[in-house]
This record gives sequence, C-alpha cells and structure tokens, in this order.
Amino acid sequence: MSPRADYDVVIAGGGMVGASLALALSDYSQGRLSVLLVESFPFPKAGSAPVYRPSFDARSTALSFGSRQILESIGVWSDLAEHVTAIDKIHVSDRGHIGSSLLTAAEQAWPALGYVVENAWLGSVLLNRLHTADGVTCLSPASVSKVEHTGGQAELTVEPKDGEPQRIRCGLLAVADGAQSGLRTALGIASQTVDYSQSALIANVTFENPHQGIAYERFTDQGPLALLPLSDSEDGQARAALVWTLSPEDAERLQAVPEAEFLRRLQERFGYRQGRLLRCGERGLFPLQLVEAEEQVRPNVVVVGNAAHALHPVAGQGFNLALRDVARLAEHLVALDTGQLGELSQLRAYLGRQKDDQISTVQFSHQLPRLFAQANPLFSLGRNLGLLALDVLPVFKRRFVEQAAGLAPGNARGGKRVSGRTL
Ligand SMILES: Cc1cc2nc3c(=O)[nH]c(=O)nc-3n(C[C@H](O)[C@H](O)[C@H](O)COP(=O)(O)OP(=O)(O)OC[C@H]3O[C@@H](n4cnc5c(N)ncnc54)[C@H](O)[C@@H]3O)c2cc1C
Repeated sequence: MSPRADYDVVIAGGGMVGASLALALSDYSQGRLSVLLVESFPFPKAGSAPVYRPSFDARSTALSFGSRQILESIGVWSDLAEHVTAIDKIHVSDRGHIGSSLLTAAEQAWPALGYVVENAWLGSVLLNRLHTADGVTCLSPASVSKVEHTGGQAELTVEPKDGEPQRIRCGLLAVADGAQSGLRTALGIASQTVDYSQSALIANVTFENPHQGIAYERFTDQGPLALLPLSDSEDGQARAALVWTLSPEDAERLQAVPEAEFLRRLQERFGYRQGRLLRCGERGLFPLQLVEAEEQVRPNVVVVGNAAHALHPVAGQGFNLALRDVARLAEHLVALDTGQLGELSQLRAYLGRQKDDQISTVQFSHQLPRLFAQANPLFSLGRNLGLLALDVLPVFKRRFVEQAAGLAPGNARGGKRVSGRTL
C-alpha cells in the first residue's frame, strides 16, 4: 500500500478553471477530499470581500446557461449574479450580406441565453469563496516546478515565492496552468497548435442607446466581431464588451490609434444598431491559437482548462467547456475511494464521458471563424443561406443555440479532433 499522500488532489494553477475545480471538489465531496491549490500570483487576503470595479479595462466572459447551473452547484452563482448581465437575444450577422439571425431566450423558453460577467468580478468571487471552502488550502504566490511519479502517487516540488522549495505528495495532480502550460511540457505531454494568424482586440465601449440584453456576433471580411452586453457605466452609459478578431497587424494598429479614430473604425464595422459609439476603455490584444494537449490523463495526472484545450474565443466556449470538464471530473472523483483518485482507468473513464462534448465544442469554435473568413462568393452565399436557415428552421436554430449554451454534449461526429487526433 502506498504511503498516505499529503493531499488527495493538488491543483497547479489558480486561474478561473483551477479555482472552479477546487470549489467543485470541496462542494461535491462536502470537504472530504483534501485539496491544495497552488498559484504563482498572489491571491487576495482572506476576509477581504469581493470587490466589484465597473472598470473599463477588464475582459469579460460569456457564460452559457449550462455554466450558470454548474456555478450554482459550487455555490458561487448567488454572489456572481449581483453583477452579471443576462443575454436575452443573440444577433448573428454577416457584414455586407443579407443573412442574419436573431436567437432569443423567449423562443427557447429559457430565462436567458447566457450571461456576461467581467473577469475581474468572476475571479474575485471565485477566490473569495475559496477562503471558506472546506478541505481546500491555498498556497500563493508559489509554483509547482517539478513532477515525479513514485509509489502510485505524484510527488511535486512546490516553490513558494519567498521560502524553501517543498516536496508534496498527492493522489492526483490537476494541471491547470494555462495554454502555455509549463507543467505539460515538463511532463513531456505534446500539444497540437493551430495558429489562426489573428489577434483578438478587446475593450469595453459605450453606446448612445441601451443594449436591451442583445449580444452581437458580427462576421466581417476582416474577422468576427462580438459585442456583449454589460451593466451601465458609473455615469449611466450603455456598456458592451468588444472582442474584435483581426490580423495581428491591423489589431496592433487599431490598438494604437487615438480613441476617436478607433471608435470611427469600429462604428464603420459594426454599424448603428445601438446608436453612436461614445467611449472606449483600455484596449488589450490576445494572439489567437487553438492549443490541444495530446494527452489529458496519465497515472496521477489530469490536464484541465486552457492547458488541455485553448480555443478561439469567437464562440465564447473556452471557459464554458472547461467548467463542464471540471464539474464532470469532480463528480467522478468524489465517487471514488481516495486511493483510486490517480488510477488511470478512472481518469480515462472521466475523459471518456467528456470526450464527445470536447470534440463538438472544439469543432464548433474552430469552424465558425473559418467559415465566415472565406471571401469566396460561393462560401459567402452558403453562409448567408446558413444564417437565413438558422432564422427560418427551428431545428437548426435550436442546435446552434444548444451548442452555444453548452447544453448539447455528445454530438460529435466520428471522434475526430481538429488537430487530427482522437482522444
Ligand atoms: C479574448 C478572449 C475572450 C474570451 N471569451 C470567453 C467567453 O466569452 N466565454 C468563455 O467561455 N471563454 C472565453 N475565453 C476563454 C477563457 O478566457 C479561458 O478558457 C480561461 O481563461 C482559461 O482559464 P485557465 O484557468 O485554464 O487558464 P489561465 O487563465 O491561463 O490560468 C492559469 C493560471 O495558472 C497559473 N500558473 C501558471 N503556471 C503555474 C505553475 N507552475 N504553478 C502554479 N500556478 C501556475 C497562472 O498564474 C494562471 O493564474 C476567452 C479568451 C480570450 C483570449
């Protein structure tokens, strides 16, 4: 029998996904599992209440209806709900072409198609909840720097920023250290990367007219442009979170131009559906890649979040998919004896249950921007017919909405991954 581990589970990376996994393990096991969450950046101090700053500089996340259900199950939705904006309608259109489609929550008989939350608030609520989560210990700033596999356990080297390195044993290491995962590389797990040769330019902007809960997904010849509804700014202007996909050169140029010039260019692309654009906050750039780990499970190791699959943000699926993975993983683990947590057959069973969801979501996120990036008139005609069909045919519409809402796992075709590998 292997010696008792220091922790049942160690999570390397306290980003949105690592923090959600720690909460799911705590909640679903009712504190029975001992969990150590290690994060390189300092966490806010215990006792400091979540702080909401309606800042102009933050990135936002579109949460699917399915994610709301998971966030409810881990006890954070009621706090989050204070500052989320419901998406009542999604307007999908192709600039310069006739096809457009309006997807509505009312048609689906749902309370909302999804919700928009600013990342600063989501992070604040998740981290605050961790302070009171039974069974969870947080160590930050500290990094997991080395992983070895001994006696049926993972043995880690954890380096606190100010202190001596520690050796920590655990039944399971969850690698949640992001798309450029250093631990994935340290473990020798290869990854497949598709470089989209595009960057996402993000900024919060304000409009003359209220958004009325409408999220816009506009496909332009330069790339897709999404505007997500946010709560009003402090001075009462209607805010929206922009994610504008552009060539890296155009994105850099548009990041640097004066605000008035930026708003003019954006208005030209987006049109006047919400009236005049008034202001824009700090602009940020994110180079876009699809990154997929070639292995997600090994004895005593599971890879989650962006470290497992980092997606194109156009369909707003990356965190939503990761949250479904994390919920399913936690459900699976809490049903086991602690001695079984790192068993490869158990980890494979978890992955087997999530495989179809992962494949269909990665394909959806990968194909959407490519389909709309085609300048070829035949493609253009096809996608406009597609958008028209979306509006006219309830079955198409429901399928699209369900995938976007994260409610349609299990509809992958043929088990093929985008990067050409099967799970
Ligand atoms: C422009 C843009 C818009 C997006 N919009 C949406 C959206 O609307 N909806 C949606 O679902 N998704 C969206 N996404 C995707 C979403 O942001 C990601 O899926 C999510 O942030 C991934 O979180 P993560 O915790 O896996 O990784 P990260 O956020 O990268 O976190 C990794 C953490 O690990 C820590 N770390 C690194 N190395 C170590 C180590 N050795 N030891 C300890 N800690 C370590 C890091 O400090 C970091 O905190 C968007 C992405 C982009 C780029």
